[in-house]
Amino acid sequence: MTETATTIAPSPASRNIDGSARTFYVRTLGCQMNVHDSERITGSLLAAGYAESDTEDADVIVINTCAVRENAANKLYGNLGQLASRKREHPGMQIAVGGCLAQMEQQQIVERAPQVDVVFGTHNMGSLPVLLERARHNEEAQVELLESLETFPSTLPTKRDSTYSGWVSISVGCNNTCTFCIVPALRGKEKDRRPGDILSEVKAIVDQGAIEVTLLGQNVNSYGVEFRDRQAFSKLLRACGDIEGLERVRFTSPHPAAFTDDVIDAMAETHNVMPQLHMPLQSGSDRILKEMRRSYRSSKFLGILDRVRERIPHAAITTDIIVGFPGETDEDFEDTMRVVEQARFSSAFTFQYSIREGTPAATMPNQVPKEVVQERFERLIALQHRISLEENEKLVGTTQQVLVSVDEGKKDGETHRLTGRSEDGRLVHFSAPETGELPRPGDVVTVEITRGAPSYLVADAPASVPLRIRRTRAGDAWDAAQAASCGTGTNDAAAGAVNLGLPTLRIGAPSSAGTASNGTNN
Ligand code: SF4
Repeated sequence: MTETATTIAPSPASRNIDGSARTFYVRTLGCQMNVHDSERITGSLLAAGYAESDTEDADVIVINTCAVRENAANKLYGNLGQLASRKREHPGMQIAVGGCLAQMEQQQIVERAPQVDVVFGTHNMGSLPVLLERARHNEEAQVELLESLETFPSTLPTKRDSTYSGWVSISVGCNNTCTFCIVPALRGKEKDRRPGDILSEVKAIVDQGAIEVTLLGQNVNSYGVEFRDRQAFSKLLRACGDIEGLERVRFTSPHPAAFTDDVIDAMAETHNVMPQLHMPLQSGSDRILKEMRRSYRSSKFLGILDRVRERIPHAAITTDIIVGFPGETDEDFEDTMRVVEQARFSSAFTFQYSIREGTPAATMPNQVPKEVVQERFERLIALQHRISLEENEKLVGTTQQVLVSVDEGKKDGETHRLTGRSEDGRLVHFSAPETGELPRPGDVVTVEITRGAPSYLVADAPASVPLRIRRTRAGDAWDAAQAASCGTGTNDAAAGAVNLGLPTLRIGAPSSAGTASNGTNN
């Protein structure tokens, strides 16, 4: 069955008494899935007649929550406490809470935070405009959560944050039952979109100017389980190869247990699938993997990496690892260190285990003391930093094609560099010439790597040397979006803007070898 677009009716609640549009701001917590959901929340509110605000000084604040991060509930209520005082000074302001934590906390949110007007869940994002209207009309909080999907979220209007790169959901939910993970309880069983619908969405994004697409799912390579095609994901990758104008295809995240060789073949043989793989290891100890209810073992994981590297020698492979899962012994942790040493990840997201209420692991005995977890965590980060640095230094002297991004280089202004992503997803900071043409976000530059650091590459060239720029449709789309938003294009090289300014959309591989934050869901 082909998806039909969900229509969002204009809402009277989107208007002030003088007829002007009420403004909204969406604050997003959590993973790429949530960021993409926020694009749909934004699209739905725009369709209902609201106007997007760049700041939190808006008439409607939507918090799209995440239940995976540590202390998620405390942070949410902390945020809501701050918003309560703002609401007192801003008559008519509304606060809506959606996403995974809303799905989990439900009615409790309005009981603990009566300043909240609307609670909606992961299955009914498109209802937000109606709920805001009802809350305003009835002058009471509206809590609406569904146990299963109302319509596939991709049918909702979507306002994409990036002109050059887009996310496309291929499935939602997950059929696995990893004992540390709350996702199946909140997002439900896996639901797959039809390949034709996915490809239509990819083509539509490309027609609008994007040249990069990331296929999203909790477990992308189990895609097809619903319509019983075990090779559906590799076929999807190959079909992306036929889409004219689509230069870069990425996906996140595959599960090692479901990873089959047809996917490796499709990655190697499809010209626009990028040489990048993010595949969560979680633990190098087979005993802990069993406790986590992850059905692969470390030898299988390493075997997949070998086969990927055999077919795609320059692939950058990244991962997620949890340290201190209940019952993890020194020996288990040494197994993780051994596998990490062997795997040669270009980077890794490392997390300290902490209890997630509602998951089986939360009530497991033998929770590992905090100081032990911390010590292991620091050792793992140090190891991964060394490996990341070594892997990145191997690229010094190579030529890379870098897709220029927006706002990924925090120090670009002071270092006179611009930033983008190489084909394998690495963050590359490259020097901006003093004169001559500058690339726009979405353009592609050819640079030579001069230095490797643990979480990025540097490509410095003498300031007098012009950049090798390939102007792309995506760069044109960025120009058009700039012109539409402020009435002026920035196609003027002499303007020399080093910090380029659309809203940020972080894409591609993780750039950090380790983060102190906690939580993973793949
Ligand atoms: S960690 Fe990933 S694969 Fe495991 S249950 Fe959670 S979403 Fe599913």
